Amino acid sequence: MSDLLERLRGRGWRLTSQRRVVAEVLDGDHVHLTADEVHARAVARLPEISRATVYNTLGELVGLGEVLEVATDGRAKRYDPNAHRAHQHLLCSGCGAIRDVHPHGDPLEALPAGERFGFTVTAAEITYRGLCPDCTAGP
Ligand SMILES: [Zn+2]
Ligand SMILES: [Zn+2]
Repeated sequence: MSDLLERLRGRGWRLTSQRRVVAEVLDGDHVHLTADEVHARAVARLPEISRATVYNTLGELVGLGEVLEVATDGRAKRYDPNAHRAHQHLLCSGCGAIRDVHPHGDPLEALPAGERFGFTVTAAEITYRGLCPDCTAGP
C-alpha cells in the first residue's frame, strides 16, 4: 500500500475506487506529476475515471494537506505526495525534471530576524534550478 493511501485511511477519508486509484498513482519520493499525468496513469488502472474526478480528487488531497502543489516556472503545476517530510526542490530548466532535496540547515532559520519585517514567518520554499544530466549532455 502507498504511504499516501495509508495516511488517508488513517484519517478516515472515504476511499472510493476512483480516489483510491489517484492515491495509488501518487506514491514515493521524487514523484511530481501533473494532473494530466496523474489522469493518464489512473486511466491505465481504472479506464472509466474522468479527468474531472482526477482534478477534484487532487484538489481535495491538497486541501487536506496530504499532497503538495509544486509551481514550476510556468509549466503545469505538479502534485507531490511527499507532504510530511520537509524537503526542497531541484528543478531542471531544460526538461522540467524535479528531485526532492534536503539542503543543510532549516531555511526558516536562515532568514535573519532583521529581514523579517515584523512578519511571523511560517514556511519557506527553495527551488534550486539548473540542468539535469540528460539536458547537460545535449541532444
Ligand atoms: Zn533536464
Ligand atoms: Zn517534492
